[in-house]
Amino acid sequence: MEIQNKIATLRQQIPPNVRLVCVSKFHPETAITEAYNVGERDFGESRAQELTRKAAVLPHDIRWHFIGSLQTNKVKMVVPIAYLIHSVDSEKLLAAINNCAAENNLTCNVLLEVHIAQDITKHGCSVEELTTFFTTEKWKEFPNVHICGLMGMGTLDANESQTRQEFNTLHTLFLKLKNIFAQTYFNELSMGMTHDFPLAIEEGSTCVRIGTFIFGERQY
Ligand SMILES: *Cc1c(COP(=O)(O)O)cnc(C)c1O
Repeated sequence: MEIQNKIATLRQQIPPNVRLVCVSKFHPETAITEAYNVGERDFGESRAQELTRKAAVLPHDIRWHFIGSLQTNKVKMVVPIAYLIHSVDSEKLLAAINNCAAENNLTCNVLLEVHIAQDITKHGCSVEELTTFFTTEKWKEFPNVHICGLMGMGTLDANESQTRQEFNTLHTLFLKLKNIFAQTYFNELSMGMTHDFPLAIEEGSTCVRIGTFIFGERQY
């Protein structure tokens, strides 16, 4: 019941055109089922094994979002299951996903992760790398992926104005790349977590990824 109340509260703060991904990593299947039973269908996982285990036993209409750092040797576990992979941070990973999708005769939806934060620990491509990727039409080398947009994380423990600025930078980049890339499916801007999602929505997010608020603290 606790989880269902949290979702009801959250839903009041999220406009209908913004997708809510319930980040269920490190939480049990029972927690996901509670959220599922009040209508949630988008769930986020960060580890290939955990995703595989959960997807096997939970309803098939769940849209699984892969949001963790993905090693190339785990790609084959994730590609057949994932609705959207948010965390593509290198061309090498993009190539591995493309090859795996081709082998499985499918098109894999991905977001490119952008490094907008100050912390050195955060993954992601640089703004320059991404701009070059699209202006040189590099994406044509990956016919079995659909690049559906961008993902980013703000600096941990930043103040409000810095976080806002980082999200604003990402939104501006998104619009610029959308203009260059001009594919109709390039329309997702994944930004905002428990501590900063209201700001992210104000700055143009189309998809928030929220774990702690819904499911409580994770036990690692
Ligand atoms: C874990 C995680 C989240 C959820 O974070 P909360 O603070 O628990 O809402 C969102 N995005 C990514 C990429 C994550 O790894």
